[in-house]
Amino acid sequence: MLDFLNVSSGYGKKEALMDITFSIKRGGFLGVIGPNGSGKSTLLRTATRVIRPFKGEVRLGNKKIEEMTLRQIARIVGVVSQDALFIFPFKVIDIVLMGRIPYVNRFSFGSKEDLRIASEALDAVDALRLRGRFIDELSAGEAQRVIIARALAQKPQILFMDEPTTHLDISHQVEVFSLLRRLNKGSGLTVVTILHDLNLASEYCDELLLLKEGRIRSQGTPDEVLSYGLIEEVYKTPVIVKKNPLTSRPHVFTVKPCNIP
Ligand code: ADP
Ligand code: MG
Repeated sequence: MLDFLNVSSGYGKKEALMDITFSIKRGGFLGVIGPNGSGKSTLLRTATRVIRPFKGEVRLGNKKIEEMTLRQIARIVGVVSQDALFIFPFKVIDIVLMGRIPYVNRFSFGSKEDLRIASEALDAVDALRLRGRFIDELSAGEAQRVIIARALAQKPQILFMDEPTTHLDISHQVEVFSLLRRLNKGSGLTVVTILHDLNLASEYCDELLLLKEGRIRSQGTPDEVLSYGLIEEVYKTPVIVKKNPLTSRPHVFTVKPCNIP
């Protein structure tokens, strides 16, 4: 579904990602983790052609992204970026309808079919009852579900998200990730999500990609990637890793260094 082959990219002349190679299969659920500034958002921007790589190749569904039009990309890729700021008080249903833009021709925007798909997307995130409300009057959890619905209305094959739950409380975090998991298992949606919370990453992702200073330091299952040695090295903070007794997934606990009172 998505392949990076020896990709380097960045801003101006500065490289922020170096020699990145990985693949994710259709129906996969990949978490991208790493400290602040390690290149996570840059990876997502490169995957969605917001920025173009200096070197290497990105392929989406086996096509070179470089040779695709933005409209073609938008019909395959849904993006929930980090700062979906809402300065304008749009209605929920209109925001979700914006997800149909890649499909419209000059005369069809807001057709019955678009409305049906937008309502379906709202239903999928359990937010149909919010359709007539204004986005700036919703709670953070509700607004985030609406943003995800907009991405779903694009009927994407792959959904990219940049820290979709960072501003949410734990119940909304679990709600959003459970929803993503359902869409992933139920309709085979491929999910690539950046997340800060290593334990959410461990619980919900099939595979993790750990970035360190613009390079892939480790990739594999949560068991393989979330070893205390790797986490201490990359995050430069002492941790212990234990298994969640219910799910057997690794959980990371920060610890104070013993020699510091
Ligand atoms: P992360 O998402 O892991 O916190 P980023 O991908 O945002 O990291 O940043 C990686 C590096 O690229 C950092 O050194 C950051 O300063 C730099 N960077 C990010 N965005 C920009 C930008 N718009 N212009 C210039 N440099 C940037
Ligand atoms: Mg970021």
